[in-house]
Amino acid sequence: MSESTAEKLVELAKRRGYFFPSAGAYGGVAGFYTFGPQGAALKQNVEDAWRERFAVREGHQEIDAPTVMPEPVFEASGHLDGFDDMLVECAECGESHRADHLIEDNTAIEEAESIAIEEVEELIDEHQLVCPSCGADLSGEPVDDFNLMFGTNIGPGDSSPGYLRPETAQGIFVEFPLLKEYARNQLPFGVTQIGKAYRNEISPRKSVIRTREFTQAELELFVDPEGEGPDLSRVEDVEVRLYPIGEQEDEEGELIETTIGEAVADGTLASPWIAYHLGIAQEWYERVGVDKSRFRFRQHLSGERAHYASDCWDAEAELDEDWIELAGFAYRGDYDLSKHAEHSDEDFTIFKQYDEPVTVERATVDPDMSYLGPEFGGQAQDVADALESLAEEDRSAFEGEDVTVDVDGEEYTVPVEKTDFSVDEVTESGEHITPHVVEPSFGVDRLLYTILDHAYAEDEVGGEERTYLSLDPEVAPTTVGVFPLMDKEGLGERARDLAAELRAAGLSVNYDDSGAIGRRYRRQDEIGTPFCVTVDYETLEDGTVTVRERDSTEQLRVPLEDLDETLTALSEGDLAFADVDGEPVEED
Ligand code: ATP
Repeated sequence: MSESTAEKLVELAKRRGYFFPSAGAYGGVAGFYTFGPQGAALKQNVEDAWRERFAVREGHQEIDAPTVMPEPVFEASGHLDGFDDMLVECAECGESHRADHLIEDNTAIEEAESIAIEEVEELIDEHQLVCPSCGADLSGEPVDDFNLMFGTNIGPGDSSPGYLRPETAQGIFVEFPLLKEYARNQLPFGVTQIGKAYRNEISPRKSVIRTREFTQAELELFVDPEGEGPDLSRVEDVEVRLYPIGEQEDEEGELIETTIGEAVADGTLASPWIAYHLGIAQEWYERVGVDKSRFRFRQHLSGERAHYASDCWDAEAELDEDWIELAGFAYRGDYDLSKHAEHSDEDFTIFKQYDEPVTVERATVDPDMSYLGPEFGGQAQDVADALESLAEEDRSAFEGEDVTVDVDGEEYTVPVEKTDFSVDEVTESGEHITPHVVEPSFGVDRLLYTILDHAYAEDEVGGEERTYLSLDPEVAPTTVGVFPLMDKEGLGERARDLAAELRAAGLSVNYDDSGAIGRRYRRQDEIGTPFCVTVDYETLEDGTVTVRERDSTEQLRVPLEDLDETLTALSEGDLAFADVDGEPVEED
């Protein structure tokens, strides 16, 4: 059986320094990867490109929050209770597996995550699913919820539990009371963060696609639900392939090729905010090297979506005939900020100024505590608070002689005259609102894998098979390889000087003088270096070098003068190789 692209890629990634399992000297541990020199540079370039597009160009602010956060944060966010995956353990070998993944891998069901546990147990029985590790029958094995957060203790002892953040988002939400001040209390405003997230995945797999420590790039956009939407004219012509719920539920359903503008007009994309971000994400993914023909946006099925999210779409890439989630785009309503408001003492609202002050009738109470205190003891304040809420919600309750409120399931009756109930006209300049959140959440590691997979290519050069990564110069770890033909008679010195000059001009340069020139080209091809420059004897005579383009392997003889500018223009896409002023050279 021939090797799959995944197998070849994982081998290349280790050999050439993209990524490899960590701590191999100690046997390694599943779900942790180290990005080698090439991988770390690619990651940095992709993060820079994300920052440029989703923070700088959109006018959003970036923050850098801790990766460990105290337990109350995750109590409020709901992660402590509900950030679970379904686990089934093999009674024979003790290996744990993600039950929904077993179903997806062995049946025609595509999204098993949204299926209830009892039904998952039934499906395991019905399809007689077996343990992928030892082959034992898993029928009848219980399926349990398993919380994915890594716990720790903050400081000595265990009185202050904390967790490694399972997403970068909470670091933004909890700081909203300050962040809104930095944004001068004006909606909409966005805050981004790029950083590590940790999930104790039941079965990490597919190299860096599912790991236990990974990098996310998230944008939390705070919007006024009744305010103006985004400027859709900026993305209306962007072509996208959508896989909405209706198509997923139809046996003959297919991807819809459309534009953002059309999808908004026909209602496929219900939220203009989601539509806008799908548009810029589509352009950005193409820019960093995701193959458009192996990319789509899939809408979450209703059971798959968090209960508070009104709409959610995933960006997905096709890898070895499998669709992998790269990012999620969710309209989260006011869930996050309301939860933190409920669990903390801070103000998670924004004061929204009206265009003109308005005069409204307000019902208020000022209960007589000298009556409530002796009457209701310890419950007196709660009764007073309940009276206040009731006055706001239902002033008719105060029309009789008595008014009854409910506190923790107990009814308390108070004479209306003791509440000092009144309805007054007040002039208000605005109101406090809880902003809604639009969240584009990108995974960096899966994207790096996708970029490498979609860039992976094989061809034949000079009768020899060649493997190369057709990476875009913006993200390629190295932009230029600089070689002396040989490291003698001044060639090495000249090439080293040239490498230093090109680095000083801001280019990422790899100097290489070891082995035959053809082998050096192959090495750079496998790393994905877009251009190589060779210094030879002619260079010493006439001040020209050969510049070779990776994908076409074409070579041109170019003067050293202005070489830095030519290479910069080539790498920034401002100049095509065919338009470079130079003499064609025979291939290597
Ligand atoms: P999945 O369903 O694949 O577990 P998710 O829906 O839980 O992913 P989100 O919580 O939406 O993922 O996280 C946003 C992004 O973070 C994902 O689109 C993905 O790119 C990345 N991500 C999530 N979990 C992992 C992981 N274990 N390893 C690598 N990347 C991950």
